[in-house]
Amino acid sequence: MPVSPEPDPDERLAQLREALAAVRARIAAACAAAGRPASEVTLVAVTKGFPADDVARLGRLGALDVGEARDQEARAKRAELAADPLAGDRRWHVIGRLQTNKARSVATYAALVHTVDRLGLAEALGQAAAHGLEAGRPRLPVLVQASLDGDPARGGAGAGELPALLDAAAAHPALDLRGLMVVAPREGDPGAHFAAAAALMAQARARIGGLDVLSAGMSGDLEAAIAHGATHVRVGTALLGDRGPIVG
Ligand SMILES: *Cc1c(COP(=O)(O)O)cnc(C)c1O
Repeated sequence: MPVSPEPDPDERLAQLREALAAVRARIAAACAAAGRPASEVTLVAVTKGFPADDVARLGRLGALDVGEARDQEARAKRAELAADPLAGDRRWHVIGRLQTNKARSVATYAALVHTVDRLGLAEALGQAAAHGLEAGRPRLPVLVQASLDGDPARGGAGAGELPALLDAAAAHPALDLRGLMVVAPREGDPGAHFAAAAALMAQARARIGGLDVLSAGMSGDLEAAIAHGATHVRVGTALLGDRGPIVG
């Protein structure tokens, strides 16, 4: 007897369809409550820890923005999905802490790098993207990750480092700085955390023109993030289920 059989593929598709509808309904309700059009919020399906088949299923259901935390996992899934009919339409979001030596790799496929958290990484991504420019690719869209509480576990630049990092990313000719990303601390009121994120966003916009992206909110707190202006929510568990204790 198999201990945990693979779910029937069609059953999994039905499961994902239902979960996606529920998350989209939550986003729509949160947008309505905030007086914002639902079209302002992009759902990034966080597929880390789940197989490429799930990425393909989500694509068939219309979810073509996918988030991965690790370059190696993203590359493996992209390779598996090379022949997927939707491969060319899918946008890969890099949402995990990035080692500088992965910059070259992610610059070749990332639609948006959410996690620029230090000057050295901005420089490495900029150099990698400059090679892309020479090869005819556009500038690399990036977000600066801001820390809301200074806890290194969640990553992000602290308040003291943020202005210089924003300036460096904005000034780099091969980077297209679009805005900020935050991960809210687990403790405390999500509304207060995202209000702080909105304040950082306002400061960043006052400093640098044209910033239009705030990546904030996950399965447990997307409503509060949308109430405070999130344009991108990164949702894993509520769509795909529990990743278990190991991956993540
Ligand atoms: C894993 C992850 C998510 C998704 O979290 P869920 O709670 O599963 O929705 C969002 N953002 C980042 C940065 C992550 O690493």
